[in-house]
Amino acid sequence: MSGEQIADRLQSLRERLSRCGGDQVKIVAVTKGFGPEAVTAAAKAGLIDVGENYAQELLAKARDLSSRPEAAVAPRWHFIGRLQRNKIGRVAGLVHLWHSVDRPELVAEIARRAPGARVLVQVDVAGIGGRGGCPPEETEVLVQGCGAAGLDVAGLMAVGPPGPPEHARRGFRLLAAQADELGLAELSMGMTADMEVAVEEGATIVRVGTALFGPRPR
Ligand SMILES: *Cc1c(COP(=O)(O)O)cnc(C)c1O
Repeated sequence: MSGEQIADRLQSLRERLSRCGGDQVKIVAVTKGFGPEAVTAAAKAGLIDVGENYAQELLAKARDLSSRPEAAVAPRWHFIGRLQRNKIGRVAGLVHLWHSVDRPELVAEIARRAPGARVLVQVDVAGIGGRGGCPPEETEVLVQGCGAAGLDVAGLMAVGPPGPPEHARRGFRLLAAQADELGLAELSMGMTADMEVAVEEGATIVRVGTALFGPRPR
């Protein structure tokens, strides 16, 4: 994939976001499934916020990029995938924002490995399970737990349900209401399929893979 191709897709993506009122929304480029060249191409197009789902993959890409100083890419890594407690230490020094904090054991481990780290609490607003997130009735306690552990809670995150984008609206609205109630500014919601609905419901961060890089290799 070329930087030019990504730049074209980024322009279409920005137009898409603009049409639904999302000019100010931050784009996290999700590079899972692709190699470090995706990160380089994104950076060339001006996208330095990069999302990864797996600790091992993040680490491999970060190592590759730092071994090639000529790439001159220093992404801000966003950890967006299901988080395993025993993998936190490996990437703790690299992660700029943890999007998927959804249980107390993760709070404790992040606080231990990356004191004061910036986090989002992931909420299973769609009630679908399997994709991470605490039940909505536990959001407040988890947010308080993060604060008590010295973490910097910037906001909330959610993954929409599969199916038509409109099906995500109720959950995104609930997430926005919870963030508002808790006085949290950031809302990480919306992906390639449902970003319009997410922006309409107040997203401040969208996490976009397919619309930028095409279908993921298997
Ligand atoms: C893969 C993934 C994305 C990006 O999905 P696309 O549909 O390719 O835009 C966003 N957020 C999370 C949590 C993901 O796992």
